[in-house]
Amino acid sequence: MIPIHLKRTWFSILLIGVFATAFGCAKAKETQPIADRKIRVVATTGMVADLATHIGGARVEVKALMGPGVDPHLYRASAGDVQTLSDADVVFYNGLHLEAKMGDVLEEMNQRILTVPVAEGISPEKLRSPKEFRGHPDPHVWFDVSMWAQTIDQVRDALIKLDPTHRAEYDQRAEAYRAQLNTLHQDILKKVSTLPSDQRVLVTAHDAFGYFGRAYGFEVLGLQGISTESEAGAKDVQRLADFIAKRKIKAIFVESSVPRRNVEAVKAAVKSRGWDVKIGGQLFSDAMGSPGTPEGSYIGMVSFNVTLIVSALQR
Ligand SMILES: [Zn+2]
Repeated sequence: MIPIHLKRTWFSILLIGVFATAFGCAKAKETQPIADRKIRVVATTGMVADLATHIGGARVEVKALMGPGVDPHLYRASAGDVQTLSDADVVFYNGLHLEAKMGDVLEEMNQRILTVPVAEGISPEKLRSPKEFRGHPDPHVWFDVSMWAQTIDQVRDALIKLDPTHRAEYDQRAEAYRAQLNTLHQDILKKVSTLPSDQRVLVTAHDAFGYFGRAYGFEVLGLQGISTESEAGAKDVQRLADFIAKRKIKAIFVESSVPRRNVEAVKAAVKSRGWDVKIGGQLFSDAMGSPGTPEGSYIGMVSFNVTLIVSALQR
């Protein structure tokens, strides 16, 4: 076994090699001023890519590294990704340690190009810091739409910094998107108000929905912790099953980016306690749906989740 610090050293050497090649190429081909061409944006998750697309409009060409069903907690950058990142004018990522396995790569990028952790612009007092996450804030900020709206400024400011000529366009699109998100936030509040408060219990595969619960009045329990890096144990299954059977919770949910078997195990354990809990459907948690489908956009995925949660928990 190779000691961890040596592994990191080798990884860094590899990175430097890839960077040297990548930057050599990028420098040679780039002569056009940014105001006369599209800005090359690379984003980590689909949610961040969608945000950049809304604010950048026709001025940006956005690539997302993580597609549908990809778990950002576990995602590692490939050599191809490093090349893609190196060719970018700006890299947007969630931050708050969501992209836990991309830390080295993002740190390297930060030395060379503009990198923006969009969620780290949110006022720190708004962040949840559950004790399970050992001092780190909960990174799943996109599930409180009013919080996600606060990331708009980070993206707008970065685009203006790169391309001040088109400032008015970025300002205008940022405000338009903010208005859309405000409407979405109000719509969610209206929809969930049709559920009696004792039925607002959300049990999911991992703790992605803490901000959702806080914003929209749900008690939230996840089988795995804040990150999917820690495996759910038999104890967690029993603990959740006790809770669900006792409270007679109607439905629990699977997630698009976390294996279904974990939630199936909870369902079986609940059954052995004499209560039949149904699987209410699949929520989009840390990854959006396929491009071109309604759930392939941030607004679409959030609306889909809310409709599913409210209808599954309705008696
Ligand atoms: Zn997560």
